[in-house]
Amino acid sequence: MTDKKTFNELGLSPKILTAINKKGFEEPTAIQVMTIPLMLQDNTNIIAQAQTGTGKTAAFGLPLIEMIKASIKTVQALILVPTRELAIQVAEEINSLKGSKNLKIIPIYGGQSIVQQLSRLRKGVHIVVGTPGRIIDHLKRKTLKLKKIEHLIIDEADELLNMGFIEDMEKIMEHTNPDKRTLLFSATIPAKIKSLARKYMDGYELLTVKKKELVTNLTEQIYFEVKASDKFEALSRIIDIKDNFYGLVFCRTKNDADSVVTQLTDRGYDAEAIHGDFSQLQRERTLNKFKKQKINILVATDVAARGIDVNNLTHVINYSIPHDPESYVHRIGRTGRAGNQGTAITFITPNEYRKMMFIQRFAKTDIKKSNVPKIKDIINAKKKKIYDDLTAILEDEKKIEDKYYNFADKLIQDNNLTEILPALLKYCFKEELNPDAYGKIKEIGAKGKQLDQKGKARLFIALGKKDKISARKLVELIMGKVSIKPRQISDIQVMNRFSFITVPFEKAEKIVISFKEKGQRPLISHAKKDKNR
Ligand code: AMP
Repeated sequence: MTDKKTFNELGLSPKILTAINKKGFEEPTAIQVMTIPLMLQDNTNIIAQAQTGTGKTAAFGLPLIEMIKASIKTVQALILVPTRELAIQVAEEINSLKGSKNLKIIPIYGGQSIVQQLSRLRKGVHIVVGTPGRIIDHLKRKTLKLKKIEHLIIDEADELLNMGFIEDMEKIMEHTNPDKRTLLFSATIPAKIKSLARKYMDGYELLTVKKKELVTNLTEQIYFEVKASDKFEALSRIIDIKDNFYGLVFCRTKNDADSVVTQLTDRGYDAEAIHGDFSQLQRERTLNKFKKQKINILVATDVAARGIDVNNLTHVINYSIPHDPESYVHRIGRTGRAGNQGTAITFITPNEYRKMMFIQRFAKTDIKKSNVPKIKDIINAKKKKIYDDLTAILEDEKKIEDKYYNFADKLIQDNNLTEILPALLKYCFKEELNPDAYGKIKEIGAKGKQLDQKGKARLFIALGKKDKISARKLVELIMGKVSIKPRQISDIQVMNRFSFITVPFEKAEKIVISFKEKGQRPLISHAKKDKNR
């Protein structure tokens, strides 16, 4: 972890570096280090093997922002993505990095009003992030012209292929400028991608992040699925349920770290942040306080935490999932040292599940799913601590001085003895034992069904490529039996023997029922939690 590059060394302009700093990124991820200089240097075509969550959007987004000419108001780059969620996400990420450069970046996907898209296209757009179907609609209407694009980026290429978009992709490529540069990002590089590259990319450079041998220690490792907006509540509960919590909380950006510390201190916790914006002296001061346990929570970014050597941590919390397996191992290596048993907890939002499994596989480690502590369990844990502390005082008579006996005598004289103790407990622990001090956390995947943030369910279909099923055919099959719009069926994954789709929860039940046949194994069922995602 010593040969890390900085953003300054990648050839980006000061303007963009300012935007990166504002966004809170401290150092480039591995895929960014490889992609950015290469994209800026010449017109090489690139195939990059990178998962979601590795920072790949900024890896191609930053050079695009750098190279696209704001003064020319035509589409200069097309980014093809498999789903509308990704289209929105990618457009937002690039927008958030463009800084003061006057660029228009818009997502174009099915389901959104075509009239609105037309009007935005007419006003002039520099980068389009689109799903294949709707891009083709616009090409047919001649409302989108790709003959002048300089860059074509195919994002999550394996997903695009899995979803049966190959013909659409080929059609789109035929409409593009033959002199453009093509970049293809994919988590896996199956033979189909290679043959696509042979056909449409005139030579390319293949980028893969080298994987180092990784070993994790004996730390207990768990993960929680929580909505992004529930992360802070989950963190508070983890801190509260542990007697003497002493932990390091990892955030992805400086801004996230600051925000978590502000929320923690607002709620009365002893927490401080360390990240790249603090001077070396400030960092050392904070670290010393943490080592001496004057504060019991340290919130850090990966960069600032490098080299931190603290032995007896009870927890390492990945408030945001790390970018790669290597930093996962590095982060959690802080617990379980010197024979101490520590716990490493990773928060993931539902769409980070695959990333979690990827980390687990490459870090060769077992990360178990668990649930955020329930309020009643936290209150019980606190009561147990109060009980144990009181018992310890009672067992050591010398600990109770006369002045307390005198005060107690007065209380007993004036009040009903059976009421004094509950009143005293209320007086001392009113806040601590108040369940209403906790916020609600929305359970994900209640009743063993896969629900995502927006009340959707994941369904398993016992048909796959070997049954000559494609994403299109699946949608048609379901529409033939249930009243549902194509855009309500998302994240279609067609595997060899089976497939998955995501649909609104209320439609899921109808689909499952209408495909049931007496005496037959169900053709469509709810996807098992945690499996096959
Ligand atoms: P992606 O793989 O593009 O989906 O990115 C995953 C997340 O990592 C996004 O929330 C990005 O904003 C964030 N990210 C990308 N690059 C960096 C970086 N160099 N430092 C910190 N966070 C980053």
